[in-house]
Amino acid sequence: MGWSVTIGRFFGTYVRIHITFLIFLAWIGFSAYQRAGIEAAKQSVVFIVAIFACVVLHEFGHILTARRYGVRSTQVTLLPIGGVADLDKMPEKPYQELLIALAGPLVNLVIAAILLVIAGAMDGEILRRIDDPSIGLVEKLAATNVFLAVFNMVPAFPMDGGRVLRAALSMWLGKQRATMIAAQIGQAFAFALGFLGLFGNPILIFIAFFVYFAAAAEAQNSFVQQATHEVRVVDVMETRVVSISRGATVGEAVDILLATSRESFPVLNASGGLIGLLSRDDIVEAVRDGDTNAPVAPFAHKEIATITPEQTLDAALEQLVDAPAVGVVAADGRLLGLVTKQSVAEVMLIKAARPDWQFSRGGRVG
Ligand SMILES: [Zn+2]
Repeated sequence: MGWSVTIGRFFGTYVRIHITFLIFLAWIGFSAYQRAGIEAAKQSVVFIVAIFACVVLHEFGHILTARRYGVRSTQVTLLPIGGVADLDKMPEKPYQELLIALAGPLVNLVIAAILLVIAGAMDGEILRRIDDPSIGLVEKLAATNVFLAVFNMVPAFPMDGGRVLRAALSMWLGKQRATMIAAQIGQAFAFALGFLGLFGNPILIFIAFFVYFAAAAEAQNSFVQQATHEVRVVDVMETRVVSISRGATVGEAVDILLATSRESFPVLNASGGLIGLLSRDDIVEAVRDGDTNAPVAPFAHKEIATITPEQTLDAALEQLVDAPAVGVVAADGRLLGLVTKQSVAEVMLIKAARPDWQFSRGGRVG
């Protein structure tokens, strides 16, 4: 997510703060200053740092539970509505998603319980006095943790409640319909929130925007994931690949670049094995650096991601995040085709036009 600052790395996961979270914190500090002066503002800052720590712990509740099911998380971003942990994929089973989603709010409830024991005040009175500046920091923090747990359980993406709802619906309706329904509920909630915001708290409008777009993105991602999980690479890969032979010169590579509209060219050895990938930029680099008759192969990227034709397209999608193309190779190392972002986009276009379209080129290539 853009507009974020990295503050550290814990358990192998980067913790980032979104700029709007900082604005939200500044707003809290400023209103304390206006209400009760500099001393109150200082207390608010301490309080803010403590909340921040609780939100991080909440996210690590998700992250560490997800890890139990083999789902990694490279970063967590803190937003005004809480944190968002970028899990690298969704767990296979709905009950796993359910437990991962519940783990975050559960952490807040545990923190609240511990704090209330420390404060020696196990009654509900505190919740009603959350705005009262005279109650102690520990009580206030306990109340905030209860609030965080409750707010995150609202059944709207990207809140945990939305995921709980999706996971629960998935058990009966299948993942795709469950996501669509949960996303629609999330967007309806965003509209209601934005509407409420118009009559008072501008922060609500702000949150409504986040919820609305997160719900839309979730529905989109789920559609892509589902669609790509259903097709095999062999059925949708690019087979009319324009390759460059290992011995080709820079001049020959330029001729090939100009003769096609392609942006990625696999470099093949004499037996058709994939030894690298030349992008348009690599060829331009070669023109800038080398002479026309020099070999172009040294400019190719050697570490190219490969998959087998029988794998599903979502496996290729994971690799495409940081590579322009994924090579599809046979057991003997021969290149059979390429998967690019454009191949995935084309599969999506066909799927959107005809959801029941069967991709079945199987066996006819290679
Ligand atoms: Zn959460």
